[in-house]
Amino acid sequence: VNAGGIGRLAPNELNRIKNVIAVMSGKGGVGKSTVTGLLAVSLQREGHKVGILDADITGPSIPRIFGIKKRPEDMGFGLIPPETSSGIRIMSLNLLLNNEDEPVIWRGPLIAGAIRQFWTDVVWGDLDYLLVDLPPGTSDAPLTVLQSLPLNGLIIVSSPQDLVVMVVNKAIKMAEMMNIPILGLVENYAYMICPKCGEKIDVFGESRGKKAAEDANIPYLASLPIDHKLSELCDKGEIEKYQSDNVKDMASWVKINVHM
Ligand code: ADP
Repeated sequence: VNAGGIGRLAPNELNRIKNVIAVMSGKGGVGKSTVTGLLAVSLQREGHKVGILDADITGPSIPRIFGIKKRPEDMGFGLIPPETSSGIRIMSLNLLLNNEDEPVIWRGPLIAGAIRQFWTDVVWGDLDYLLVDLPPGTSDAPLTVLQSLPLNGLIIVSSPQDLVVMVVNKAIKMAEMMNIPILGLVENYAYMICPKCGEKIDVFGESRGKKAAEDANIPYLASLPIDHKLSELCDKGEIEKYQSDNVKDMASWVKINVHM
């Protein structure tokens, strides 16, 4: 839809990708990959065609949470990404490594080159949504990825212990530079539900994300609980089995500003 802007790469000509949405965080471990995965599941359940471009080279957990081990198929004219059990197409550097436990110690330009190839040399085919799991943080690494892809929107994931105001401000600067809208902020690990009585427990006190989003005038998309069922399924590579009203709501995040 908006591919081909200045400095941005042309996609593989076999690809018809309607929306490219990136997911970022201020640091690692806040649940960025998990939220990216759940958003993909939500959109897939609504009947959309979805792909995930795993650009988080530091800890590529996307193949792990979907239980994908298959290598992409090299067809000569491009790489065919493997599909999850529900049909989400996935491309990750992890799928190209011989041993997935090997740490990826690559320099910036090499990483940028690999991500560019995920756009130019991967046969995504027809997609309604391509979700990009960015490297954590607000440094050069996520910025390079943002710059090389024709994005329609950016989602920020934070945790209650994050310096959320700083993360939001940096994200806003990045989004302005790229001229893309921020779709909103998601706060992960925001609370717990007591397994005995069902009471909501604010483990980390009152949410700071909501106020940060309001102050920055960006949507507060969701506050997600700590849920051991979710982490268990992620560990088993079965994130697609996760059932929750939160997941149902996620598809609406990307429809707020994005026209299909
Ligand atoms: P990031 O991509 O930000 O580094 P991950 O998405 O890989 O973080 O999440 C880190 C770990 O926390 C994973 O093991 C994941 O299963 C777990 N996790 C993430 N969100 C939740 C949640 N809401 N409830 C329980 N566990 C979670």
